[in-house]
Amino acid sequence: MADSVLNVGDIRVTSLSDGSVQFDPRLMFPDTPLEHWSHYYEMFPECFSGQHFLMNLGVFVMGSGGKNVIADTGFGPHGKMLGSETSAELMDDFVRKGVKTDEIDTVFMSHLHADHVGWNIDPATKDVPVFPNARYTVHRADWDHFTVPGDDSEFGMEPIERSVIPLEEIGVLDLMDGRTELAPGVTAVPTPGHTPGHMALMLASGKERALFVGDILINPMHATDTDLPFALDTDPAEAMKVRHEVLDRTENEGITVLGSHLSPPGWGTMVRWEGRRYWRGME
Ligand SMILES: [Zn+2]
Repeated sequence: MADSVLNVGDIRVTSLSDGSVQFDPRLMFPDTPLEHWSHYYEMFPECFSGQHFLMNLGVFVMGSGGKNVIADTGFGPHGKMLGSETSAELMDDFVRKGVKTDEIDTVFMSHLHADHVGWNIDPATKDVPVFPNARYTVHRADWDHFTVPGDDSEFGMEPIERSVIPLEEIGVLDLMDGRTELAPGVTAVPTPGHTPGHMALMLASGKERALFVGDILINPMHATDTDLPFALDTDPAEAMKVRHEVLDRTENEGITVLGSHLSPPGWGTMVRWEGRRYWRGME
């Protein structure tokens, strides 16, 4: 098993996973022929099952200054995702990695898609937070967008109704309006486009920097194929602009990148090879 801890200065990041899902790449990149992905099979074998994408549902716990922030809560035990079976392993992985749910102070939701909110609420009771001592937080623009029935949600209202709206009813939800420090050196920053309120997390401690990019980078191949039309972006033009800005910056400044759906444990850096950018995972 790859090492599941990354130290960014004094910030300790633990990688967890809710399992992985496999599906036809055309669900995400409908304009891109299946054969396009074949030259990545050897480069990123962990991302493919035959011609299908094999996508990790990554979750990160960031400890700093005695506070623990969790970045997203996976898909949870809620049936199929993009037509694929899910395994809902996150609670088992908490036990495996020796992390306790009652030690989480802040649940940060990068955005409100179903695979980022699944373990917010206890699926058995349906009205008890999985993280009993935590405040839950998301950008107000995502709350406004997703809690009103609309026509662009690939996942429908059901994940919002069971995993997001109860947070407000219980009284544990805080909405962010912009840049917000969640723990010492752990700061949420707006990165809209994938969804209206999508946020990244900047980790800064001493001279070290890392950026949790959520779904700005949907898989390792996306670092190279940054311009492919991606079907799950709410605002494709803005998402493309932000994706380029964020990935260019991480590449130019040598910032470690953490993503929700990158190869486990989910962190790496951008490298250049023959004029093209690639994501290189680190253990
Ligand atoms: Zn996602």
